[in-house]
Amino acid sequence: MPRKIQVLPEPIAQSIAAGEVVERPASVVKELIENAIDAGASEIVVELETAGLQRIRVYDNGAGIDPEDVPVALQRYATSKIKRLEDLFNIRTLGFRGEALPSIASVSQLTIKTRVPQALTGSRVVSEGGEIKSVSEIGCPIGTEVEVRNLFYNLPVKRKFLKSTRSELHQALNHFLRLSLSYPSITFKLIHDGRLLHELLKTDSVDVRIEAVLGSDLVQHLQRVSLEEGEIRVSGYGSLPSLLKGNAEGFYIYVNRRYARDRMIYKAIMEAYRHAVPTGKYPWVILWIEVPPYSVDVNVHPTKAEVRFRDPERVFQTALRALRALHEPESMIQEGHLDEGKTGIPLSQRPFFQPPSAPRGEAVVPMVRDRPGPEWEEMRKSGPRILGQAHGTYLVCEVEQGLMLVDQHAAHERILYEEYRKAYETGSLAVVKFLIPPLIELSAEESFLLSSSLEEFQALGFELDPVGERLYAIRSVPSLIEEKDAQQVIWEILDEMSLRKREGKGTETVDALLVALSCHAAVKGNLRMRQEEMDELVTRLSPFPQSTTCPHGRPLCFLLTWEELKREFRRSR
Ligand code: ADP
Ligand code: MG
Repeated sequence: MPRKIQVLPEPIAQSIAAGEVVERPASVVKELIENAIDAGASEIVVELETAGLQRIRVYDNGAGIDPEDVPVALQRYATSKIKRLEDLFNIRTLGFRGEALPSIASVSQLTIKTRVPQALTGSRVVSEGGEIKSVSEIGCPIGTEVEVRNLFYNLPVKRKFLKSTRSELHQALNHFLRLSLSYPSITFKLIHDGRLLHELLKTDSVDVRIEAVLGSDLVQHLQRVSLEEGEIRVSGYGSLPSLLKGNAEGFYIYVNRRYARDRMIYKAIMEAYRHAVPTGKYPWVILWIEVPPYSVDVNVHPTKAEVRFRDPERVFQTALRALRALHEPESMIQEGHLDEGKTGIPLSQRPFFQPPSAPRGEAVVPMVRDRPGPEWEEMRKSGPRILGQAHGTYLVCEVEQGLMLVDQHAAHERILYEEYRKAYETGSLAVVKFLIPPLIELSAEESFLLSSSLEEFQALGFELDPVGERLYAIRSVPSLIEEKDAQQVIWEILDEMSLRKREGKGTETVDALLVALSCHAAVKGNLRMRQEEMDELVTRLSPFPQSTTCPHGRPLCFLLTWEELKREFRRSR
């Protein structure tokens, strides 16, 4: 009889291990940036294609890898960062587990190009599914470039679990911004599908970096905190009650410059703000906690997202006291003596930011901008003549006043949004009930968002029952969406909600739901449409006189008047 318990063959064992580190493209982005930071880079560029699903390329100008070490770096538990067991308790780098590169390599097609400063040439290693295909000598700049193609190409099931491009990009962006916030002395660039999304130039001022990452509006509402007690140093910023959020997404906690989710620190924050914020509201807090490496265990989580303090109570108290000072009448903030070189946190004596000019809660920003757009009434009269579709994305129409270009996705989104809104307001939204409710598992943040807006979801036809921690049964969905898309749409809605909170946009949940629903159902860009489809789209668009933007605020159409054309061609008549 064959044995029941068997040791898994290496490829399966590898995939299981890889799953711990590499959940999604964003995890790869995080690990590769961390490696570049550990290599002492002063410039790190992240290039993504399709949110990293197709291609992730991270290059740095750091120390590089010795030619003989390059293939070794792809082996499990191969690291240059620790050597002895004791080193595990004295970690000063972001990495140390020696797992990232082999894990990523085992589920992708990976190429490393690297050169150390003292060498004249660099090396290139190509691997596929973790198997090294070639090692060669090449010319390349000093530093390291890691390119990851087709993540999970050999694990189709895993690929299916990934969310929309937008959601994956959002997650990758989060890692990018969190890391860059803690390393202001490094220039970071993020390019997505050829577009430069972020360029954060190196600076020796943490304020400059915070402003670049989180925006100058926010900075106005931040006040500095800093406290040193024994071996524990706490420094950073907390928002004044003039700027609050509806969720804890504005907490940026770093332990020895490593971004960490730490319940205890979250508690200290909420405790410190207890009397300053209403329930359900959260401040923005950016906090660096510095403790001696031996007093914190960072090896508790495969992606190193959590840490464990040797003396949690002391850390809690120090963080609490530092933050409480924010709310004391006379600012009694104690000046600590942070090692500036190490943390990059300047400690000048002046208060960092001006007091807030005007309170800016979570004001509701109107979705439709009031700006003059083409006169739809006019156009309808003359009847737009659709000349065709350009670039798979724009409809080119001739109208009385000139040429009109319509963004097909934006236009369709607006149409659906209005229709859904009407159906919702008149209570005529049809619902489909599931015979066997599918389950949806959410992240902690998503679950938090959902649990606080179950009613609104219900009002739009999503009946969701909590059945476990972060697990919901989907009992019904609006009939506008296909049943098989139920999970996907719910994720997209939660993304939309979290994005809006992040951008300080309107927090009206129903609106976020309607926007996400219409975005999901709308025809995408880059999709050929037939003549009848285009006709229908333009006809359905015309009843909305004022709607010159899509629900996300992008313009729907663009009018090039005959006058303008005439001028372009320098025609006199
Ligand atoms: P870890 O970071 O935990 O050591 P990784 O698998 O991420 O493990 O990387 C393995 C080793 O490869 C690192 O210890 C380091 O020596 C080398 N390495 C990886 N990325 C880079 C880089 N961008 N620059 C220089 N060396 C690197
Ligand atoms: Mg690493």
